[in-house]
Amino acid sequence: MRIANLDGRAVLIQKGLAVDINTASEGRFGPDPRSIFENWDAFRGWAAGRTLGPGKPFDEGALQAPVPDPRQVFAIGLNYADHADEAKLGHPENLVVFTKFASALAGPNVTVELPSESVDYETELVVVIGHKLHKGDEAESRAAIAGYAVGQDYSERHVQTRGPAPQFSLGKSFPNFAPFGPAVVTLDELATPDALSISAVLEGPSAAAHGGRWTVQDGTTADMIFPVSRIISDLSAVVTLFPGDLIFTGTPAGVGMARGIYLRPGDTLTSTIEGLGSISNRLVRA
Ligand code: ZN
Repeated sequence: MRIANLDGRAVLIQKGLAVDINTASEGRFGPDPRSIFENWDAFRGWAAGRTLGPGKPFDEGALQAPVPDPRQVFAIGLNYADHADEAKLGHPENLVVFTKFASALAGPNVTVELPSESVDYETELVVVIGHKLHKGDEAESRAAIAGYAVGQDYSERHVQTRGPAPQFSLGKSFPNFAPFGPAVVTLDELATPDALSISAVLEGPSAAAHGGRWTVQDGTTADMIFPVSRIISDLSAVVTLFPGDLIFTGTPAGVGMARGIYLRPGDTLTSTIEGLGSISNRLVRA
């Protein structure tokens, strides 16, 4: 299943058309997008294998954040060895955890204003939680996954690294710094959910020396130091996870800081994960 948010209403994307879940279920599920994940097992049982309709054509640009109002947003740092290496930091023995404050959440294809000349990109698999969970083992953690989406962890590096202590959460929470989507994709749609290619392509001024199109990140989620079920299990050892919560799971190598570049007005960044789709953001001057 592919579950998205169109005009503030939960929809299923089937064959490129959007089916309004509340209408199709005669009011049993939705329309609030987060409520789908609050009732995840019942919804999945109702929707699985069912052909719903009628669907309607829609504009990808109109899609909003698949979960616009999660209770919690977690983000994991340094979760790919090649990215930890390029950041000249060690491979973590424990999760490196911060948040992206909820006001930064946005639909998949928003325009992002650059608050400075130090804004970087990090392409990430986003996990959407479907079960309340505290102290979950790895099997319970796996079962708590509702689905995956594509996310960008935009990061203002100056605020992120200024003293006296690093401010990861603040530097990564300017408006629209957490776009994700286009939909939440359930794992049964994916042939290899633990090994998905993950990439980012820059177009515009930053890519001028590369023929106007530059693949800046090209990795696989198989290279995560902490795989998804381990992240959920380790988080839940401390906190309670709720349905609709989001986890940004870290980025592979190729971020701008390591390349000596930052995003420039006029750039477009397209982030893609195998089987999940793409999100695309235009970067403009604030
Ligand atoms: Zn990140």
